[in-house]
Amino acid sequence: MSAATHNLYDSNLTDLEALMRAWGQPAFRARQLYRQMYVKLSDDPDAMTDLPLALRQRLSAETSLHQLRLMHTQRSDNGQTVKALFALADGAIVETVLMAYPDRATVCVSTQAGCSMGCVFCATGQLGLMRNLSSGEIVEQAVWASREASRIDSALNRVTNVVFMGMGEPFANYDRWWAAVERLHDPQGFNLGARSMTVSTVGLVPGIHRLAGEQLPINLAISLHAADDALRSALMPINQRYLIADLLDATRAYIASTNRRVSFEYVLLQGRNDSPAQAMELARLLRGDDPLLCHVNLIPWNPIPGAPLDRSSHRRVLAFQQVLLDQGVPCTVRVERGIEIAAACGQLAGQNNTLNLANPR
Ligand code: SAH
Ligand code: SF4
Repeated sequence: MSAATHNLYDSNLTDLEALMRAWGQPAFRARQLYRQMYVKLSDDPDAMTDLPLALRQRLSAETSLHQLRLMHTQRSDNGQTVKALFALADGAIVETVLMAYPDRATVCVSTQAGCSMGCVFCATGQLGLMRNLSSGEIVEQAVWASREASRIDSALNRVTNVVFMGMGEPFANYDRWWAAVERLHDPQGFNLGARSMTVSTVGLVPGIHRLAGEQLPINLAISLHAADDALRSALMPINQRYLIADLLDATRAYIASTNRRVSFEYVLLQGRNDSPAQAMELARLLRGDDPLLCHVNLIPWNPIPGAPLDRSSHRRVLAFQQVLLDQGVPCTVRVERGIEIAAACGQLAGQNNTLNLANPR
């Protein structure tokens, strides 16, 4: 398999129909192949016995269902959380985290290898951007997670939720990311409901406007992390481009046009953004004269190596939450999975890889 091999996960059904036509095959072969890929979750053309042998052989020779090379997995939470480290064809590294629960399975998917946004509290942000992922590289993470979920628990035969909260900023790779969303949603294929997908953004205003115009009503989470511009700019350089007021204007426009509730994520850093006064300021921002249809997700910061920051104590987290609740802001504390294997929010940096990146294959 060469890097130039056609990645089938980059194709939607229409693309596969074109491929089959080019190969002199009837269009229904594309639907069979698509079903094998996204309903049966097969990754081996040889096993697709509803396809003729010659076609299976050609698929094996000229296409790939393995753009992600699994290098390493780590498990925690009694095996219910799995972090996978994948090498891409060019040696770039991404991580994917599967969280299995008794009745559902959520996968946290990466959209870029690294990230250019440089948030000071985030391990991925310290890497810089290696490159955008293709739609197929994004989709294949969810397909891998579905297979893995059924290995963990046969009653869970696929993932039920996809959150785009892994490495990278989805709105900085909008077109490819959105193609992945549409492919995962396709009722003829992976068939994941739009409401079962959530995108988290650092706050790229043009992306918020674009999402408001999309047909699929996926959930939107916005990383806020501070209620004043000076602090937010110090934590998140993107705030120098889009001030909090701009971000909230875009959020208001999004809510007005979609009538959907948004989530704000707020990472709690001891002594930086977690005082009761700062909680009050946040409440004023969100509930002031023109209250936003929103929910706040508090995330006690997950430590990353070398960052001069501290995780808020449980007591401070609860006090912060109480201020918000008293002010009428719906607010929950995110229960984290996989902290000890660096699989929790913002800890993804491929630090456990032992690859020779110059020669990954
Ligand atoms: N780039 C997007 C999505 C990926 S990060 C974004 O920033 O929203 C997903 C979430 O994890 C974001 O809310 C991010 O701010 C948060 N996060 C990053 N580093 C973290 C850390 N070390 N501890 C807890 N949450 C973190
Ligand atoms: Fe990038 Fe999100 Fe990490 Fe910021 S928090 S550096 S936007 S992945």
